[in-house]
Amino acid sequence: MNSLRQMGLEQAIRRVASPIHSFSLAARGRRLGVCLDQQGAAIGRDVLDSMLLDHAAMHGAVVRQNSVATLVESSNDGCTIGVSDREGSEEISAAVVIVADGLAGNFLPRDGRWESRTAKGSYFGVGTRLPPGTAGALCEPGTIAMRCGCAGYFGAVLLNDGSVDVAAALSPEKTKQLGGPGAAVRQLAIESGSPEHADVLATARWRGTPLLTRRRIVEAPGIFVVGDAAGYVEPFTGEGMSWGLAAGLAVARHADASLTRRYQLGAWTNEWKRLADRRRVACRATAIALRSPTLIAVSIRIANAIPAAAHALSSVVSGPWRMSVPERVRA
Ligand SMILES: Cc1cc2nc3c(=O)[nH]c(=O)nc-3n(C[C@H](O)[C@H](O)[C@H](O)COP(=O)(O)OP(=O)(O)OC[C@H]3O[C@@H](n4cnc5c(N)ncnc54)[C@H](O)[C@@H]3O)c2cc1C
Repeated sequence: MNSLRQMGLEQAIRRVASPIHSFSLAARGRRLGVCLDQQGAAIGRDVLDSMLLDHAAMHGAVVRQNSVATLVESSNDGCTIGVSDREGSEEISAAVVIVADGLAGNFLPRDGRWESRTAKGSYFGVGTRLPPGTAGALCEPGTIAMRCGCAGYFGAVLLNDGSVDVAAALSPEKTKQLGGPGAAVRQLAIESGSPEHADVLATARWRGTPLLTRRRIVEAPGIFVVGDAAGYVEPFTGEGMSWGLAAGLAVARHADASLTRRYQLGAWTNEWKRLADRRRVACRATAIALRSPTLIAVSIRIANAIPAAAHALSSVVSGPWRMSVPERVRA
């Protein structure tokens, strides 16, 4: 929310988002519910993205949707970008380019210096939106429900229109063995103690991402890479959007400096590392813990018995949310 506040969008987002005040974690039939210190907000990407685009347009950006851009060439004097859409294609010259094309983006050539290094054991992501009335009580209003199992984990949140947004990070090997993403998420629901939701999850239409955990270089003369395109760990702590927005705000200063030739190559790389590395370590620790549903289940059992342990577990899995008092309510 900090970045959205800086952009003057926080209030507008809160008006259309569902407030989030608690988090529930389950593995091997054990559950833990915790309150959040700060109120979060759940919003569909369609709504958030269109608000961000309108905001950019209002501040002078020319928005071109349904277009594909690729880097044609770059030198110390600037870049040439190819842009194509249904109407045709054209080349545009740019003194500076900010690349925010996500995990699956193809703006930069995928080989040579721009190639991403994917971590061993990396999960891939899938997501779906369950229409209103189809997900039963998969998640309570105002709660992020996380469910862990052998094939990975999924999170579900109820949106304002009654639909439920579900996203999962899955092991490629286990997903293949189980017969695909629907079957893998079904298995996660059963293992974590929600068998009543197994069928609706199995038959949902899942959209996938490439392998998640990756790194690459994030700049070259006149080119700055931000967001998932710059590197990613795992979505469990729900930080991808805040990293992306924070990086978008931070890179503006470097892009400006590069236009006036006051820029020192490497400054963005250093700032990106500063922004990302601390969070990356925390995310990586969470990701490792999540590879063992038994460890999570034992931790939940201890956390339910000892409030101080609940606090410790919460801070490991909560990422930016900072959880506080364990709830003795439905998780
Ligand atoms: C399973 C899963 C669950 C997640 N859950 C959360 C969550 O709860 N909270 C959270 O904060 N984050 C979450 N994330 C992470 C979050 O979705 C990403 O971190 C965030 O979307 C990154 O934003 P981005 O702008 O870098 O990339 P993206 O959102 O991927 O946007 C990139 C855009 O660039 C476009 N594009 C690609 N190539 C080109 C091209 N050549 N020309 C033109 N356009 C192009 C794409 O179509 C896309 O619109 C989750 C991720 C996954 C995989």
